[in-house]
Amino acid sequence: GAAAEPPPKLVLDLERLSQLEGVEVAPLARYAATIQAQRGDYNGKVLSIRKEDMRTLAVIYDERPSVLAERLVAWGVLNPDAAEAVSDEDS
Ligand code: C2E
Ligand code: C2E
Ligand code: C2E
Repeated sequence: GAAAEPPPKLVLDLERLSQLEGVEVAPLARYAATIQAQRGDYNGKVLSIRKEDMRTLAVIYDERPSVLAERLVAWGVLNPDAAEAVSDEDS
């Protein structure tokens, strides 16, 4: 987008996340549940997370943030426009 636009938010689809099973999904599910608990935000269908959280998740998954973002999009839990904005160099 244009330089004046804010970057797209990272938004997790919690309904989709709850439908997924398996060891690959479990760390993300625990991370999202922890943020919900810390905020006291239990009733949402989606959860906006910090850009910094994608970097933390990338360490957990041992992937570059951009690769992890693409994987979360493929799972259907992350909005694709946000994934495009995830770069591996940003601090
Ligand atoms: P904290 O980081 O000290 O933030 C304290 C409060 O500042 C938050 O309380 C929230 O009201 C506000 N705040 C901080 N950053 C933002 C932001 O980017 N947007 C908005 N709208 N408000 C913000 P809250 O929500 O009750 O969260 C309590 C604590 O839970 C936070 O303390 C932080 O330690 C943790 N937390 C909450 N959400 C996240 C998250 O998405 N990622 C991470 N890593 N931690 C989170
Ligand atoms: P938005 O960011 O596009 O969010 C649209 C709707 O998605 C929100 O409607 C809410 O129902 C849901 N949503 C998004 N992120 C979360 C989340 O982390 N937890 C939960 N439980 N729901 C979430 P809502 O609440 O009526 O907000 C409408 C618009 O108001 C938002 O559009 C945003 O532009 C603004 N807004 C609401 N809360 C905040 C906030 O804490 N910080 C900022 N900067 N804007 C906010
Ligand atoms: P948002 O509330 O629209 O905030 C957009 C950006 O403004 C945040 O991107 C962050 O860079 C900055 N920002 C807003 N409030 C604060 C604050 O209190 N302290 C600091 N240091 N920066 C702030 P970021 O971090 O990528 O977060 C993206 C979205 O995730 C936020 O959009 C909000 O929807 C959600 N979020 C992040 N942290 C929290 C939190 O602690 N509590 C809640 N309720 N929502 C959060």
